[in-house]
Amino acid sequence: MAPYPVAKKCHSARPNKNGSSKEWVQYIRDFDQNHKLLANQEFKHVASFRLAAAVLSTKATERCILLLKSWRAQASLIDPFRTTSNDWVIRAAMFAKRAEELEAHHELNNLLSRLADFYFASEIDSAKAGSTRNDSSHINAVLNQLKWANNESARTTLQNRLKIGRKLRSICKKFGTGLLCLVPFSSDAPYHISATVCLKMKDVEIREFQDLVSGYEEFMRLLCEFGTSLLNILVEHREIEFEYERREICSLDQFTEDELLSLLKPVPYLKTNFYNSAYDWPKPDNWQWSWPTDPTWVPSEHPCDLCGTTQCDCISSLPTNRYRICYYDRKGRGIQAYASSRGGLVFNKNEYIGELTGELVPPATYDSPMTLDFRRPDLPEEPVVCQVYCGDKGNWIRLVNHSCNPCARFVFKVVSGKARVMLQASREIYDGMEVTAKYGSDRLKGDNCLCEVCEAKRVTVPKTTIPG
Ligand SMILES: [Zn+2]
Ligand SMILES: [Zn+2]
Repeated sequence: MAPYPVAKKCHSARPNKNGSSKEWVQYIRDFDQNHKLLANQEFKHVASFRLAAAVLSTKATERCILLLKSWRAQASLIDPFRTTSNDWVIRAAMFAKRAEELEAHHELNNLLSRLADFYFASEIDSAKAGSTRNDSSHINAVLNQLKWANNESARTTLQNRLKIGRKLRSICKKFGTGLLCLVPFSSDAPYHISATVCLKMKDVEIREFQDLVSGYEEFMRLLCEFGTSLLNILVEHREIEFEYERREICSLDQFTEDELLSLLKPVPYLKTNFYNSAYDWPKPDNWQWSWPTDPTWVPSEHPCDLCGTTQCDCISSLPTNRYRICYYDRKGRGIQAYASSRGGLVFNKNEYIGELTGELVPPATYDSPMTLDFRRPDLPEEPVVCQVYCGDKGNWIRLVNHSCNPCARFVFKVVSGKARVMLQASREIYDGMEVTAKYGSDRLKGDNCLCEVCEAKRVTVPKTTIPG
């Protein structure tokens, strides 16, 4: 996917600032013949039309995916040219990928800047509510806090931020802040929606924009929902996984708009294991109760391994919002520990990080890295009673990568009335560290292992080598 709309043929020149509606329609048609808004040419204001056209473009869906990818790639962008590989193809591929990620990051940064303006205006406006002080006294208070020189130029900068932020709040009023993710805040063709364009929009133009996009209710609803979820990840660290990420997709060109929209839906997580009774279930060794049944069932008198009581809610008290989903280059997605303070402690040694959930199937049903053999801790000889298969459904714990020197481990415990696979920290885990565990699968061992320990062993050329 190209990060920016690529001109494939000769386009008419960008209409000048007094360009007529007709010229703008033609100009946008040159880029996207099938743009859904072109059937509706009833508009009075060019800025409203351009903003609506940008938001309703098929590219808006691609843009959403790009922003998400860019956010996930952040971990590697902190140190973009670090490489441990001594294989030139791997290094060349990494640099090519990095160039694309950094370009995409530019879009994310534009969004984040506008989002900061939006919140800046929200703060000033809420301070203003019920206060007799005016904007400039609030601006002065902020300048004081910043210890910036209180001169004309600094005041104008903040006043402009306030104006832009207020315009954005007004633009988003009907659809929520998620709408910001759909707007390409750049002067790029064909919509040319810079922050300045938003700043200059009058109320009547904003209303017309809202009327123009309102005709595409379902498209707007789905994309704005995605935008809101994405902002929740960015701002509040409430992680969500999207359907797009579950699939290995190289190009978005093959998808219809409806398919693209379905890729932006959140992946539903399993709160608890799903016992698939449709299988023919062999009775496990040393099973002491009636069979067949959910192999994670435990008798009600069995105490919880975490608290020692028989009636508890330990499973609902596990930590939340202490992780991020990141891309780890060749390993793909992984889990990074997250604390509200940079570098802070996230999990104590032996703390439970979460429960691995998935579909419970009979032992040896799947031969896949997305499978874990489940041993009953409370039965003699701890027999494998089932597999937890996370290929189709599960939760975020399934994204934890393998490492030969992991910081967490999978353990089998009875917690809150069920036998469960728990992920437990095997040492202190700090903000920014990748959460890893050791998987038994042979396919991960030796040359196939992508963990940092095995990658380091394969390196013969130390440190980064800069191509000359
Ligand atoms: Zn308990
Ligand atoms: Zn390894």
